[in-house]
Amino acid sequence: SETILEIENLSVVYETDMETVHAVNGISFSLGKGETLGLVGETGAGKTTTALTILGLLPERTGKITGGAIRFEGTELGKLSAHEMEKIRGARISMIFQDPMSALNPVLTVGSQIAEALELHNTDGLSKKEIEKRVEETLEMVGIPKERKANYPHQFSGGMRQRVVIAMALILSPELLIADEPTTALDVTIQAQILTMICDLQRKYETSVIMITHDLGVVAETCDKVAIVYAGEIVEYGTLSDIFNGGRHHPYTEGLFGSIPSLTEEAKRLHPIEGILPDPTNLPRGCKFSPRCTKCMEPCSLTAPAVYEENGHLIRCHLYRDNKGGQE
Ligand code: SF4
Repeated sequence: SETILEIENLSVVYETDMETVHAVNGISFSLGKGETLGLVGETGAGKTTTALTILGLLPERTGKITGGAIRFEGTELGKLSAHEMEKIRGARISMIFQDPMSALNPVLTVGSQIAEALELHNTDGLSKKEIEKRVEETLEMVGIPKERKANYPHQFSGGMRQRVVIAMALILSPELLIADEPTTALDVTIQAQILTMICDLQRKYETSVIMITHDLGVVAETCDKVAIVYAGEIVEYGTLSDIFNGGRHHPYTEGLFGSIPSLTEEAKRLHPIEGILPDPTNLPRGCKFSPRCTKCMEPCSLTAPAVYEENGHLIRCHLYRDNKGGQE
């Protein structure tokens, strides 16, 4: 399908006088129209930094893109001014954060907050009445009766609040939606409802989605493609079946999944693996996973592995170096 987003060799650091945190280290992926890509990995792996970079929301003083490019429908986002980026953010690329409460203003009604996004980007010159109508339609689209637009966030349950946040993210029909752990704060039944809703809306509007998650059940239910992220790199990338079938995998993926589960298995959380992510101010010289890898061998701690490909399924690991097509 038509490519919406293309990320090429992106690197991002957070820099202070004291230290440089290497948060994203040469990430590449592309996303087609209507496709869902899962970014999977432990907290601190660089998933959220990748999302914030796409949105142009890196912390101004410390966050810095040190390499690579982000192209959104052919436009290189890094070259846009803050003002031009503001026009894209919220309207054409929007984000759903983990905690709905932090995304909502407690002293404004949900209706006025949903309307705000529309007023900010009112390129169609909608009247007050038309905006009101659009707010009501969007509320109903996410399963909230339109009368509730007059309510305040605290009058909603957690799941309903996340629906409000989704309504805010979708009111301008963005081409790209980034969902950062959108259901972790919710209980399991509500999680399933919200995910089903996101999938339904996505199919209906052909929205492309980046789903940031550490929940394998979420991945299995929603994603077309999966990128496993470790220490700011994609260590494995493939279709849902590449990742969930019993074929070759990156040792980190195998560790995370415990054993690779089948797609039909119950929703399953990532398996805690021994050790911690490497210090991002002082990354290992060779394979960044080598300090934790049970398959670590001679070249691993000295030489960073290339990416090996088999029919679009990419694995960054020396174990596969006999595969042809290795690339730095
Ligand atoms: Fe493990 Fe070596 Fe592969 Fe890194 S390159 S994941 S250390 S086997």
